Amino acid sequence: MREKNMLQILKNSRYTVVLSGVGMMQESGYPLLRDGQESYEIEEKYGYSFEEIFSSGFYSARKELFFRFYKEVILKASEMEPGQGFFDLKKLQDFGLVHSIITRRIAGLEERAGCRNVINMKGTVFHNVCPSCGREYSVEYMKNASGVPLCEKCMVPIRPKVCLFGEMIDNGVMTRVAEEVAKAEVLIVLGTTLHSPLCIQMLQYYTGSNLILVTDKEHYTDQQADIVVYGRCDEFLNQLVAEYERSGC
Ligand SMILES: [Zn+2]
Repeated sequence: MREKNMLQILKNSRYTVVLSGVGMMQESGYPLLRDGQESYEIEEKYGYSFEEIFSSGFYSARKELFFRFYKEVILKASEMEPGQGFFDLKKLQDFGLVHSIITRRIAGLEERAGCRNVINMKGTVFHNVCPSCGREYSVEYMKNASGVPLCEKCMVPIRPKVCLFGEMIDNGVMTRVAEEVAKAEVLIVLGTTLHSPLCIQMLQYYTGSNLILVTDKEHYTDQQADIVVYGRCDEFLNQLVAEYERSGC
């Protein structure tokens, strides 16, 4: 019954925006780099935390180690496939039930699953650019470069176009996401808490009628949502897809 009501809410909504959180990545099998076992392994192997290495300060001062980490840990993301949740999100877009997707994650999973109208607030690892001539380089080029990847023409280090720790999100991007959220009648938050940086930044622009939160962990801010679904995001999305297909339209 719940899915039916949820489906009805989406069908009635003129504009629905999804905020795609870290839980969506975890469900795809991605390790958590800031918490959990992976963060200890990073500190042990590199001598610094994820946030220390993947920062603007490190990029400026310690390029060798920055790029070793970028290639060995961050670019690994480009080898992992999006989980089923992302493909069901794409189907919901195809059905006209979801209109845009916003994320702070940098693995580009939404677009790799075929989603459209995705705003990657912090960029993705698929975008690596020479700061001097603007030439773009592929993930393969970055991975295969020995040491610091250099522009073939300018011989300067190539900059991953992602927002590093210590950097501000681009103003133009912030304006776009604020406009998207302000347009939303329904806002679906997937796999994060309303207390996350993604939500704290976005909720101030939301004036819609239904804030739906899907999370597997309870948090004291859950009560700010109109509807809370405790469980996996991929199961939630899959149920919606199934319900839509059964409804025949
Ligand atoms: Zn160049």
